[in-house]
Amino acid sequence: MSTSTQPKTPTAKGPEEWFDGDVYFNSYYAGQEPSRVRLNLVRFTPGAHTAWHTHAVGQTLHVTEGAGFVQSRGQELIELRPGDTVHTPAGEWHWHGAAPDQFLSHLALWEAPAGDEPETVWGDKLTADEYPSARKD
Ligand code: MN
Repeated sequence: MSTSTQPKTPTAKGPEEWFDGDVYFNSYYAGQEPSRVRLNLVRFTPGAHTAWHTHAVGQTLHVTEGAGFVQSRGQELIELRPGDTVHTPAGEWHWHGAAPDQFLSHLALWEAPAGDEPETVWGDKLTADEYPSARKD
């Protein structure tokens, strides 16, 4: 093995059952065992956001462009701006996505679990009350 440029993968549309609105992602890296690391760029159009979900081994987001939110169930809304890095622990229900009137792009870094457990468990879509109608600033 030596240092190598990784193959480019096509931009994929986020499935409707997992996302509200139009979301696109690029898989930049998926480690081969024993590495289980995953790196994606995720681009949300204004107002687009994930459904509630959990990650088996947690997830780190790094915002590259735009404005948006991340929120864990029962916790305060966190506003996202370029340069922000946020971590969600393993098994915690949360959502993330764009502000209503802004694009959001973030890198997403996570690990696949070692066993048969799914990487991500998807739950309900956000209700109209759960998605914020505006940013504070
Ligand atoms: Mn997540």
